[in-house]
Amino acid sequence: MSYAAFYQESIQHPDTFWDGEAKLIDWHTPYTQVLDQSRPPFAKWYVGGETNLCYNAVDRWLPTQADKPALIAISTETNTEKTYSFAELHLEVQRMAAIMLDLGVKQGDRVLIYMPMVAEAAFAMLACARIGAVHSVVFGGFASKSLATRIDDAKPVLVVSADAGMRGGKAVPYKPLLDEAIALSAHKPEKVLLVNRALDTMQFVAGRDVDYAALREQHLDAQVPVTWLESNAISYILYTSGTTGNPKGVQRDVGGYAVALASSMKHIFCGNPGETYFATSDIGWVVGHSYIVYGPLIAGMATIMYEGTPIRPDAGVWWSIVEKYKVTRMFSAPTAIRVLKKHPPELMKKYDLSSLKALYLAGEPLDETTSSWIASELGVPIIDNYWQTETGWPIMSIARGIEDKATRLGSPGIAMYGYNVSIINEATGAECAPNEKGVVAIRGPLPPGCMQTVYGDDQRFVQTYWSNFAHEQLYSTFDWGIKDADGYYFILGRTDDVINVAGHRLGTREIEESISSHPQISEVAVVGVEDKLKGQVAVAFAILKHPELAATPEAAKILEAEVMAVVDKQLGAVARPSRVHFVPMLPKTRSGKLLRRAIQAICEGRDAGDLTTIEDPTSLQQIKAALVV
Ligand code: AMP
Repeated sequence: MSYAAFYQESIQHPDTFWDGEAKLIDWHTPYTQVLDQSRPPFAKWYVGGETNLCYNAVDRWLPTQADKPALIAISTETNTEKTYSFAELHLEVQRMAAIMLDLGVKQGDRVLIYMPMVAEAAFAMLACARIGAVHSVVFGGFASKSLATRIDDAKPVLVVSADAGMRGGKAVPYKPLLDEAIALSAHKPEKVLLVNRALDTMQFVAGRDVDYAALREQHLDAQVPVTWLESNAISYILYTSGTTGNPKGVQRDVGGYAVALASSMKHIFCGNPGETYFATSDIGWVVGHSYIVYGPLIAGMATIMYEGTPIRPDAGVWWSIVEKYKVTRMFSAPTAIRVLKKHPPELMKKYDLSSLKALYLAGEPLDETTSSWIASELGVPIIDNYWQTETGWPIMSIARGIEDKATRLGSPGIAMYGYNVSIINEATGAECAPNEKGVVAIRGPLPPGCMQTVYGDDQRFVQTYWSNFAHEQLYSTFDWGIKDADGYYFILGRTDDVINVAGHRLGTREIEESISSHPQISEVAVVGVEDKLKGQVAVAFAILKHPELAATPEAAKILEAEVMAVVDKQLGAVARPSRVHFVPMLPKTRSGKLLRRAIQAICEGRDAGDLTTIEDPTSLQQIKAALVV
C-alpha cells in the first residue's frame, strides 16, 4: 500500500484504521467502541477494552523470548553493564511491584519517580503500569523547586529515588534535592523508596524512607499478577513547560498509548523482536517513556538505558555500544550529534556499525549541516521526526515501514498517519497556501497515544490547546511551520515563550520566576537565543533593585553567578541561563507586556520588527549595550 493511501485511510476512517492497529497488542477484554468522540476535544480510544502496558512490554514476550535480552543498563559513569532478559525483567518488575503494594500503593495512586538512568527506574515505571499506579517521572536534572511543584500537583503517595546519579565523572546528588523538595511542598508523600548506589551518603527520614535493596530481598519470589485496566485509565503524568510558571501534567491513557507505540515501532521505527534499540534520551523526557522503556519492549526488542555522556571515555562510546549490542535502530537528538561532530571521526570508524539500519533524530530542529554530516559518516538513513510531550509519538516523520519515501533536508517529513495536520493562518484561521507560514495545528480527534487532558484540569486542556483559532476547535502545537507543495513540513520555532535548549523544553516564565526570587532582582526577561551547539540557550536581562550593585564589571560578574546559582538550586542546571545581563529598563508595550521577541531579535542580530506599541524605544538600546559588555 502507498503511504498516501495508508494516511488517507487513517484520517477518513479512524475507527476501522485504529481497529486494525489495535491487533498489534494483546487485550484481556475486547473493547466495545474504537473511538468515543461524544465530548470533543476529548477523545476516548478503545472504550471498554482492558489491557496493561507492562503485560504488553514484558509478559507477552515470555513464551517466545524469555531468555532474550530485554533491558540493557549501561553506565559509562560507574563502568557497569547489565543485561536483563525478558524473564529476569519480569522477576524484577514483580519484586518492585510487590514492594510498592507493601508500601501501600493502590490502583490509581500516583508514584513519583526521580531517578538517574538506572535499571531500577525502568522497573519502577513498569511496576506502576503493572499494578495500575500512575507514574510521574521527573527529570533528574530538575532541582528542588521544580520537583516540589510536581509533587504538589501529582500528590504522590510514594516517591522512588536514589542517592545520586553520575555525570562527567562526578556524582550528582538526588536525595538531598528530594528532601528539600518535600520540605517545600505542601503535599507530603507517605513513603520514599531509595536505591542506594553508594555514590553519596544518605540521611534516612525515619518512618518515611525505605531501602530498596533490603525490601527487594524480602520479595525475591514475588508474583504480582497484572491488573487489567480499562483502556482510558491513566497510565502516567509527565510534566512539560508552557507559557506560565506552572508546568502542565500531560496525562496519558493505557490502551491507546500501547497501540500507538506498537504501531509506531512497526511503521516508523521498523523494529523487530529480538533486535536492539538504543535511544540516548532520559526517562525524564517523553522520548524516554515512549522509546526507551515502553515502545521497544512492546515491540519485543531489547532496549538500552544509558547513563553517561556521548563523549566519555571518548566520543566513540555510543558506537562501541552499537557494535557490541548490534543495535539496529538508534534514536538521539541533533545537539548530541553536533557535540560528536567536534570530535575526530576516526572514533566512529573504529567500530563495526553494520547492524545499524537507521538513526532517528528529534526534539529540536535538525540543521542540514548536522544531518548531512552524520548521514555520510554512518551511511544509514537519518530520519528526523517532529513531535511533543503532548502527542507521545511522531506527528511528522517518514513511515518507512509503509513506504520508503525520500527525506528532505531541513524537513522532519510528512504528516504521520492519524494526525490531520494543517498550517493555519493565525489571524484569519484559514488554511495556509503551500510554503506560507502559519501555526502547525491538528484537527481532532488526536490519534491514540496523545494526551487525554491536563492532569486534574480539563479546562486548562481545552483552554490551552484547543482555543487558539476563532473559527474552529483545532489542537495547536504552538509551533510555526510551513508545508511545501509535496506535503513536507518545515518547523520554524515556537509561537509561545517556550524555548528549546539541547532538545530540552523549558518555559522562559519558569526561569523568570526563579530569577525574580533573588532578593536583588526587581524584574527580569528571559529569552531563547540561537546557539550553534545547543540550538538555543536561555539569556536573562534583569533589572536590579539597587543598580549600583553591578556598577563594575567584577561586581556584575559576582551577581550574575549568584543569580545563576539560584536557578541551579531551584530549577536545576538544565534551566540555568547562559548569561544574566543587568539593564536599567526592559522593553515593554504601553500596556506593560514584555517584548521578549524584540529582545530575542536583538540578541540574534536581527531586526526587532514592528515596535509601534513599545513604551520606550531607548530600552532596546540598553539591551544592545548590555550585550557588548
Ligand atoms: P517536547 O515536548 O519536549 O518534546 O518539545 C516539543 C517541541 O520541541 C516541539 O513543539 C518543537 O518546538 C520542538 N521539536 C521537537 N521535535 C522537533 C523536530 N524534529 N524539529 C523541530 N522542532 C522539534
